[in-house]
Amino acid sequence: MRSISIFGATGSIGQNTVDLIARAPDAYRVVALTGGANIAKLAQDAIRLKAEIAVTAHDEHLDDLRAALAGTGITATAGEAALIEAADRPVDWVMSAIVGAAGLAPGFRALRHGGTLALANKESLVTAGPLLLAEAQAHGATILPVDSEHSAVFQALVGEDIAAVERIIITASGGGLRDWPIAALASATVTDAGAHPNWAMGQRITIDSASMFNKGMELIETREFFGVTPAQIETVIHPQSLIHALVGFNDGALMAHLGAPDMRHAIGYALNWPDRRHLPVARLDLAQIATLEFRAPDPLRYPALAIARAVMETRGRAGAVFNAAKEVALDGFIAGRIGFMDMAAVVDRTLDEITSQLCLSSSMSNLEDVLMTDHMSRQTAWAQITKMER
Ligand code: NAD
Ligand code: MG
Repeated sequence: MRSISIFGATGSIGQNTVDLIARAPDAYRVVALTGGANIAKLAQDAIRLKAEIAVTAHDEHLDDLRAALAGTGITATAGEAALIEAADRPVDWVMSAIVGAAGLAPGFRALRHGGTLALANKESLVTAGPLLLAEAQAHGATILPVDSEHSAVFQALVGEDIAAVERIIITASGGGLRDWPIAALASATVTDAGAHPNWAMGQRITIDSASMFNKGMELIETREFFGVTPAQIETVIHPQSLIHALVGFNDGALMAHLGAPDMRHAIGYALNWPDRRHLPVARLDLAQIATLEFRAPDPLRYPALAIARAVMETRGRAGAVFNAAKEVALDGFIAGRIGFMDMAAVVDRTLDEITSQLCLSSSMSNLEDVLMTDHMSRQTAWAQITKMER
């Protein structure tokens, strides 16, 4: 029986993971489930999966969680330190699906057991890719990508030599605003940007898809995880989201990974790896699909891509600054303080401002360094937002 924990169990990725685990309850011993404010869901799933411990990120919800789990024998804990304690419980497989930079520390900690970290939290690779990979190596742990594009690339590379790879192409849906006139984007609302044409995901990543900050993050993830150069990584808009990524080899072959837009495929692949097992995802009917469309992303519509490319070149601290500024810009947009197109300006200006204070290309030596860079970048990004409001 494999032991597992799910960090961010109440979110979109977390719930898809819970769904797969609940289908084979005898195959898994569930150790920890973590969530945020949705205590009812967290408690319900902890009971359903017979978890040993349930953790809410928020101290103020501890009493509610305790009450919901009373008499079940499941331990309830709360707060950042409790998340790390949950990560200290050794398991074979961990799903890292907390959203944002908050997901970095628990996933990093879980690598100490030398098991498998299924990595959905893209902020981990963007902010601290080299540190995370080194930590995994030091403890003999395995990191498996769960972002659909990276899972697709990983699968296309099975049995291949990375030295034979010429290029990696990750596809993008273009997001909910892809057909809007560029001039109208400045007035897009949170509701407009929060509707995704193909994928059902959390609010933050859905808005990041509309701005393509999500694809920018994924370009950086690709560079860090697969160790290819920025020039080898491309992105193309593919409105149907059926091809998730393609790998081009030195003999001209292009291997594409196709599948229904359902995250249970990438999650299930990471769960069953290196085997493949039956998964409850829709099978594609190619004759019915008939055509697959592609187009180049317009740099004016998606300024996030050029910013991400520069970050990919700089590496060092640039990813942590980029991610923190992007998270703050998104908070500012959701709060109605800045417009949709202002998000890129906030990230750009924050990178410029931090460059004048820190050497962006210098590498980071530990997690504290990442958190310090993150903190400093957040303050700078909020200051940029305040300036823009005036
Ligand atoms: P979500 O918002 O639906 O869920 C996030 C989870 O994290 C919830 O359980 C929430 O309670 C928890 N959480 C939020 N803030 C927290 C904090 N400060 N401390 C501890 N826990 C906290 O997000 P999601 O869409 O499931 O995405 C999770 C991660 O996976 C993100 O990094 C996202 O970019 C990545 N990802 C998601 C998808 C997708 O299809 N949803 C695809 C690829 C990658
Ligand atoms: Mg993705």
